[in-house]
Amino acid sequence: TEKYLIQSEKMSVAGQLAAGIAHEIRNPLTSIKGFLQLLQAGVSRKEEYYKIMIEEIEKMEKITTELLFISKPMTDNKKWENVIGMLEDVIQLLQPQAKLKNIKLKYDCPNNEQIYCDRSQIKQVLINVVKNAIEAMSERGIVELNVHSNHQHVEIHIRDEGPGIPEEILHKLGEPFFTTKKDGTGLGIMITKQIMEAHGGYLEIKQNEPKGSTFNLVFPKIEHN
Ligand code: ADP
Ligand code: MG
Repeated sequence: TEKYLIQSEKMSVAGQLAAGIAHEIRNPLTSIKGFLQLLQAGVSRKEEYYKIMIEEIEKMEKITTELLFISKPMTDNKKWENVIGMLEDVIQLLQPQAKLKNIKLKYDCPNNEQIYCDRSQIKQVLINVVKNAIEAMSERGIVELNVHSNHQHVEIHIRDEGPGIPEEILHKLGEPFFTTKKDGTGLGIMITKQIMEAHGGYLEIKQNEPKGSTFNLVFPKIEHN
């Protein structure tokens, strides 16, 4: 078993992804096949089976949609972009989802702060992280986006009032398909990390006192290709 463990630890992200995709797609397929066989045999409770099959298909749809995003070649479309503009776009996009849960999305950012980046990719990163923040909170509360910078970095902090992340799963965040949600895909943080690296930056995760987490997107303050 030791040999196996060492090998699995060494598995590349591509390998983990391939194994994950196979697993995530095969399970719904197996279940759909089972229900189709039942229907073929002429059982009752048809409505219920159709409903489950549609849910399984939707699961596969969601996963493939997110995977398409990573399979896109990392286009080099970097320019100096205004941070505040990207924050406003993303907040506008996620406002309906936040309102449904009575969650306020607030931001604070210097007017002239800029990042050298691919705008659509960084918006994707912000969507992934802010969506997670909203999903982590039950009802009410605030998700805050704050931008700080010094000589070396521009940092976007996304702070939520959710339950925080248990120590024992912290290292699993960003592994492909790792999710604790019933309808999660477990691809958001992996994609986020990948995009941050493609910008010479990184993702940092912190716990808030007394509760909640803060996801920090750290960008270098130089042009990075
Ligand atoms: P998904 O959102 O589909 O589950 P992600 O990669 O976006 O996949 O997130 C992986 C997991 O990380 C989540 O299922 C959740 O357990 C945890 N997580 C991410 N963001 C937060 C957060 N703000 N608060 C608590 N847990 C979080
Ligand atoms: Mg997510």
